[in-house]
Amino acid sequence: MHEGTIAREIIRTAKEEALKAGMEKISTIKVVIGEMHAVVEDALIFLFDLMKKEEEGMEDTILSVEKKPVVVRCKKCGNEFRPEKPIFICPSCGSMETELISGDEMYIESMEGEN
Ligand SMILES: [Zn+2]
Repeated sequence: MHEGTIAREIIRTAKEEALKAGMEKISTIKVVIGEMHAVVEDALIFLFDLMKKEEEGMEDTILSVEKKPVVVRCKKCGNEFRPEKPIFICPSCGSMETELISGDEMYIESMEGEN
């Protein structure tokens, strides 16, 4: 399951970062996920909450998710737009030469905890 894999990856990365920072308990983790990944936020938080119980120092961790919209820039006319379909066609000039400028993010933005 997609969300399960992501939840596991967040836990793994957070534990690594906590170890480096000498953090013993993680209270919150804020992640940024682009809409390109099509993550169901409720499912992700549900699975995270199940998995965190197995992790020492993460039993009470709150996961907060910030979603980033998919934004595409047209290479021909420079127009920036939010595509509604997975096929990116510039609405102003019809070009398909586009580049993704936002929406494929997937990272931990910040973590809080106790030492
Ligand atoms: Zn264009």
